[in-house]
Amino acid sequence: MEYTKFLLEEKAIPESWYNLVPDLPFQLEPPLNPATMEPVGPEAFAPIFPQAVIEQEVTQDSYVPIPEEVREIYALWRPTPLLRARRLEKQLDTPAHIYYKYEGVSPSGSHKPNTAVPQAYYNREEGVRRLTTETGAGQWGSSLAFACGVMDLDCTVYMVRVSYDQKPYRRIMMETYGAEVHSSPTDLTQAGRNILEEHPDSPGSLGIAISEAIEDAVGHEDAKYSLGSVLNHVLLHQTVIGQEALQQMELAGEYPDVVVGCAGGGSNFGGVAFPFIRENLKNGKNTRIVAVEPASCPTLTKGRYTYDFGDTAGTTPMMKMYTLGHSFVPSGIHAGGLRYHGESPIVSALAHEGLIEARAYAQNPTFEAGVTFARTEGIVPAPEVTHAIKATIDLALEAKEAGEQKTILFNLCGHGHFDFSAYQQYLAGELVNLEHSEEEIEAAVAGIPG
Ligand SMILES: *Cc1c(COP(=O)(O)O)cnc(C)c1O
Repeated sequence: MEYTKFLLEEKAIPESWYNLVPDLPFQLEPPLNPATMEPVGPEAFAPIFPQAVIEQEVTQDSYVPIPEEVREIYALWRPTPLLRARRLEKQLDTPAHIYYKYEGVSPSGSHKPNTAVPQAYYNREEGVRRLTTETGAGQWGSSLAFACGVMDLDCTVYMVRVSYDQKPYRRIMMETYGAEVHSSPTDLTQAGRNILEEHPDSPGSLGIAISEAIEDAVGHEDAKYSLGSVLNHVLLHQTVIGQEALQQMELAGEYPDVVVGCAGGGSNFGGVAFPFIRENLKNGKNTRIVAVEPASCPTLTKGRYTYDFGDTAGTTPMMKMYTLGHSFVPSGIHAGGLRYHGESPIVSALAHEGLIEARAYAQNPTFEAGVTFARTEGIVPAPEVTHAIKATIDLALEAKEAGEQKTILFNLCGHGHFDFSAYQQYLAGELVNLEHSEEEIEAAVAGIPG
């Protein structure tokens, strides 16, 4: 029998996170204070993040040791399996070899606990008692709720109202882990009250929920804030994915010609890709690295590379990144995790320098790919990762066309067990693509200051 799974023992859980920044052949541009347009020092983040996290945000060390207690919690689900998608290959009748790293085996069902656990750990070590955060679809909120549970911290989640109403099971999962979940906008913060005064029926947004979570953390001595994507320390924590995958591809006796990940804020993509980009930069490998995004939120493919705010309210430092403008409101596609106007500054710089490429797909073709995957490989993927699957299928078909045996690795960053209402719509033929017009995208990008 040919092997399908490539498994590592617990002792193969990486001992360090890999930091791509010192290996980059260019300098990253620093975050700026919007008032002065001067670089902000790490101290600007002190009211919201613990010291250890701030240090990791700016570190130039190539490797950052993973605390033993974090590795012990990682061992609840890591190392995650790497699988060869033999049945999908057969279905596509492609000479390509397709591998996927499956992060959906984590307690909350995605890659996000890889960073939630260390963030909760460092906060607890520095005496913090409570973490606040925002969540859209609930993947991040449930990951942080789980992490706070194991680290004995309180957890307050501001959940975007539409999701709060539409996804009761994600909310109940967070409550099961012990978190307090509020439907945002709330009347608990000034940011929330301001919105409610003007729009009592506001459906909420990630931008509003971020403002509420930050205000809560800043206003309480024993609380800090936690972010699930975009920032350097988050991508750092996610590199356990790619480091394990390197070992597993070796077990499989192959090396990927292409590595694919879906990109919202860039953390699961960076997590799988950065260790392979290191091999490209330092060890003469030549792997194509492909980020995949929704056509309705085409940050890397149609955004502008410039300084912009990280949040909708315009309160964060300005970051150099691909952006559609911080006031851009992406349409309500089901891949909630990919609805972000910006992109990780590291991933943005890699795209700008041509070290990675990007593709964008509309909603229906990605669900079609997700259903094909479910019917061949068995796992029902999260709507976000169906973008990576669609790109993988296209790449495999391009290989067939060219008569080339390519090896493709993609990151299956989460399962879709809380997303069946989206699949229901797709199966009923009721799902629409929800792309913005060229004009809308151009207008949004033209409106970015600077
Ligand atoms: C949150 C999430 C994403 C998007 O976030 P990234 O930081 O881009 O990884 C993608 N997929 C899943 C399953 C998620 O939960």
